[in-house]
Amino acid sequence: MMDLCSVSAVKRLLSENSLSPRKSLGQNFLINARIPEMIAESSSEFARKSISNNVPIGVIEIGPGIGALTDELANYFDRVVSVEIDPGLSLLFKKTFAGYNNVELISADILKTDIPALVSDCFNDVVSEGGNVSVCANLPYYITTPVIMKLLESFGPTVKNPLSSVTVMIQSEVADRLCAQPGSSDYGSITASVRLRANVVKLFDVSPGSFYPPPKVNSTVIRIIPHGGIREVFPGAPDDNTECRKFFELTSKIIEASFSQRRKTLTNSLSGLFPKDKTASALVKIGKNPDVRGERLSTEDFCALTHMLLTEKE
Ligand code: SAM
Repeated sequence: MMDLCSVSAVKRLLSENSLSPRKSLGQNFLINARIPEMIAESSSEFARKSISNNVPIGVIEIGPGIGALTDELANYFDRVVSVEIDPGLSLLFKKTFAGYNNVELISADILKTDIPALVSDCFNDVVSEGGNVSVCANLPYYITTPVIMKLLESFGPTVKNPLSSVTVMIQSEVADRLCAQPGSSDYGSITASVRLRANVVKLFDVSPGSFYPPPKVNSTVIRIIPHGGIREVFPGAPDDNTECRKFFELTSKIIEASFSQRRKTLTNSLSGLFPKDKTASALVKIGKNPDVRGERLSTEDFCALTHMLLTEKE
């Protein structure tokens, strides 16, 4: 095992390669060896739960940096494909992992990467042998939400997302929002939108001292477990795939409109989409008060509301 996860190793490797941490790319490197080990161990354990013994498991790592997490992932997964945007770090990474036969680097921006193509190009044999693919990362915090949404939106709402789970370190504040319950102040459009696509659980908190340089915020590792499509969240969603996609899109629109002005009642927030009396009557039919605000509705409630608004006669 190499030492890639101590402050002295990180500083030495960076300086030997004429690099320094780039704030604009969210570069805060792990220097507490327990953290990458815990991420790799728990995500591989989760991946193995749903498949037979002895089939391969793969992982996509976002932003490997120097490779502290990669090194652990290579111990627990049969194949690791790491996507790094920084050309300097990519060169350093290639030298470090040259002797590993289960680690591959792709020098690219994850936000411009075609995720389904990455899964099928790099993990075809893993999947065809009955294995699965996970995602792990100490995410660059400037793109936390876009990366999570991209991973969840790359596969349509009518199919099962092939990613077994997404285990990522993010800002604690965002983790609180993703895990919030309806009615709480952290609950918002991002919470409900993510839950349309996945369940989210908090794993553990990590203090700024576990990174070099230390970030200004606390961090939390979360696990995102994609649903098997929207019908799993709401069995009443249409059987026909085209209708089901429309149902999903309308539910997303309703969620967005519901939180655009938090203080408004839902009937007012949705008045650009539906007449107020229609929304009020649909709310009553799903067992809600017609004056309710969007922040009180769970994802399942939003689906039920969409269903009622689509099926109710004028
Ligand atoms: N995994 C390393 C660790 O834990 O020590 C580094 C984590 S650091 C928080 C984030 C990493 O993501 C950096 O290596 C950074 O260069 C990389 N990165 C930033 N933006 C990226 C993007 N759009 N696509 C791929 N990698 C990116």
